[in-house]
Amino acid sequence: MPRPAHRDHSLYFDYPHYDFVPPPELGGKAITHDAAVIGAGPVGLAAALELARHGVSCVVLDDKDTVNEGSRAICIARHSLEIMQQLGLSERFVAKALGWTHGTSYYGTQPVYRLEMPHSAEERFYPMYNLQQQYVEKYLVDAAMAHRKIEIRWQSRVTDISLTGAGATVAVQTRAGGYALSARYVIAADGARSAVRRQLDLPLKGDAYEGCYVIADVRLKSSYPTERRAFFNSPANPDSTVLIHRQPDNIWRIDYQLLPGEPEAEALKEESVLGRVGAILEMVGERSPWELEWWSLYKAYTLALDDYRHGPVLFTGDAAHLVPIFGVRGLNSGLADAMNAAWKLAYVLHGWAPERLLDSYSPERRGATLEVFDLASKSTKFMTPPTRGYRLMRDAALALALKSDLTRPLINPRQSQPYTYSKSPLTSFANRDREFGAGPIAGAPLVNRRLGEGHFLLDDLGPGFSGIYFARDGRLPSHLERLAAELGVDGEKFTSIVVSDPAASAAYGATEGSFYLVRPDRHIAARWRHVEPSEVRSALRQALGASPA
Ligand SMILES: Cc1cc2nc3c(=O)[nH]c(=O)nc-3n(C[C@H](O)[C@H](O)[C@H](O)COP(=O)(O)OP(=O)(O)OC[C@H]3O[C@@H](n4cnc5c(N)ncnc54)[C@H](O)[C@@H]3O)c2cc1C
Repeated sequence: MPRPAHRDHSLYFDYPHYDFVPPPELGGKAITHDAAVIGAGPVGLAAALELARHGVSCVVLDDKDTVNEGSRAICIARHSLEIMQQLGLSERFVAKALGWTHGTSYYGTQPVYRLEMPHSAEERFYPMYNLQQQYVEKYLVDAAMAHRKIEIRWQSRVTDISLTGAGATVAVQTRAGGYALSARYVIAADGARSAVRRQLDLPLKGDAYEGCYVIADVRLKSSYPTERRAFFNSPANPDSTVLIHRQPDNIWRIDYQLLPGEPEAEALKEESVLGRVGAILEMVGERSPWELEWWSLYKAYTLALDDYRHGPVLFTGDAAHLVPIFGVRGLNSGLADAMNAAWKLAYVLHGWAPERLLDSYSPERRGATLEVFDLASKSTKFMTPPTRGYRLMRDAALALALKSDLTRPLINPRQSQPYTYSKSPLTSFANRDREFGAGPIAGAPLVNRRLGEGHFLLDDLGPGFSGIYFARDGRLPSHLERLAAELGVDGEKFTSIVVSDPAASAAYGATEGSFYLVRPDRHIAARWRHVEPSEVRSALRQALGASPA
């Protein structure tokens, strides 16, 4: 059986213990919370921190007393780092994580594809970082527990939820008894086996993939650099696939595919894992002693809810969708869900936007999931061919790639990318967007640019809406200063950023007087080659959920 990486067994991670604190409801106090977040996994915690960043208090419920145990996400993409930066956590993250830019795929032992992820001095963050999910969660928990607007209730299991006219009532079970928690809105972030989803009778729909992987983490001292290595038909695992990733603390992730029909129970025996991992390490020339930290079984799914909003409940992360890990998507997608759901919910709760704003959550984030399904199903089928015919074609492509460039693009693992909300009801002025010859389009997330020594464009974003104005003299004209003052949303002021750097302007396709209107989650609501204040006002209204003018 897989050995649990319990706090007493882990070779490198000190699992924290979080106490149960009896909540006021257990003493009979009736409270209606503005927002309840169910699940203190990475997605629920990110949502809670984003709500708090916009001044909204929330209560977070989780049934366990520590961070998630075992080995889960390790590859965290640049766009998630940009989210971490917004939440004030990127420095801690970068100090521990291993940044990387490239990878190699092998057919047998011969290299057939070099993965080069775009990276330049214009970026604050590497395209990808390896960091164990336990650390990601620990950083998020520390920040959430230190925030006066967030109350985490550990060891509190949600067993039921019912929708009321005024929100939702959540049944919570604790060691000191059960209680009912009332909230105007609920963010469901309770993971793949979501109790909220089950209680509301909302099925996940989609596909399960053939192919099964053993995921093993080992402690090994090695000087091999941080990159992704994928082996197809290697001598250590003939007829199937192996992935190798370096993690901090001298921990290495070895994923190997089981052969069709191979009994899972046998494959999960410790001696079997030791033998298979040993053969893989020998193949890649690792001779140092090593130890097993954790192992488990993984199968890929593309499953999602039909709608991520159900009345006052917004589903996020694995509670809303299960995506294959190939191409590093689950946690990365979930963090983007959290940010999207939380700023919208904060604006609605403050009364800064109509309830209708929440209707945009599902089309935007479910749209992102469907794109991930499309990309991930291609990389998953390449990693674990579903049929004999597919497998013959895959192997032919790999064999051809030994000699020719022609089939090499097929080996690309199609790593996680942020989604562009171009079809969102919040994105406007497509006609203005088309006037640009370069730069991120309306609906896309901002791209970073270096503006000076250690200073990048995304550093300057405020918590609310921002406007980027391009002017050679670096000054905001007085009529736009007045516009910016007007665009503040009650409690949250509008942040004006003026870019004078010619290279940054060119990258944004901007000329003197160009303007980008940016949402709190870094996505572009609309852009103008020549700013039109009346259109900016209208685009902001639309980005807040008003119907198009
Ligand atoms: C082997 C493996 C490798 C992966 N690698 C990657 C990767 O490299 N990159 C990537 O982006 N993703 C990866 N993923 C996916 C990633 O781990 C998940 O997508 C991520 O954990 C989802 O976060 P979440 O917060 O939505 O759910 P979870 O992390 O599952 O958190 C849910 C939380 O809800 C709590 N909870 C559940 N039920 C209840 C209840 N009834 N009451 C109260 N609390 C409850 C749980 O205790 C938990 O804390 C990987 C996953 C696996 C399994």
